[in-house]
Amino acid sequence: MISPPRFLKPDSKSFSCEIFYSQINDKEIRQIQQALASIYKNALNIVLGGELELIKDAYNQQRDQYNANILLRHLLEIKKVDTALWIIKKDLYCTDMNFVFGYAFYQKGAVLSTYRLSSRKLKEKESIHEVGHVLGLNHCRNRCVMQFSNSLFEAKIKPSFLCENCRRKIMILR
Ligand SMILES: [Zn+2]
Ligand SMILES: [Zn+2]
Repeated sequence: MISPPRFLKPDSKSFSCEIFYSQINDKEIRQIQQALASIYKNALNIVLGGELELIKDAYNQQRDQYNANILLRHLLEIKKVDTALWIIKKDLYCTDMNFVFGYAFYQKGAVLSTYRLSSRKLKEKESIHEVGHVLGLNHCRNRCVMQFSNSLFEAKIKPSFLCENCRRKIMILR
């Protein structure tokens, strides 16, 4: 039997999510940081961790994409932080998927690609979604940023906020 994720119940003063990035400009990163901070302000300190170099081991030449799982494992190996989000400009894939917007390990970290995300709004939305996973949230069927999106269309139509149910789970409902 699979046990449900244990939700992080962080002490807001000491728990953080560090943002790392590759080939993304400062302005974009700051916008994403602000969007994350406004959603998760009672749960996490969103801090900038700095630039990171992509690793060759994660690159698949045939696909011209990066393997999300390898990148995320690498991130967690080299950065010993509470939780981390790595935002990259190159396209990402997982073994059984043509592409993914992002990929997360519960309570540890996530990687996100802006490759297919054409607007600021979409980049912010998918960042919020991935950090939701990091905090222990699953996909959600409500009108909620945690809705699963398998296509750009689905990503566009979902809202950029967490539903009440998800907010309650990660204890940011005030
Ligand atoms: Zn998801
Ligand atoms: Zn929800």
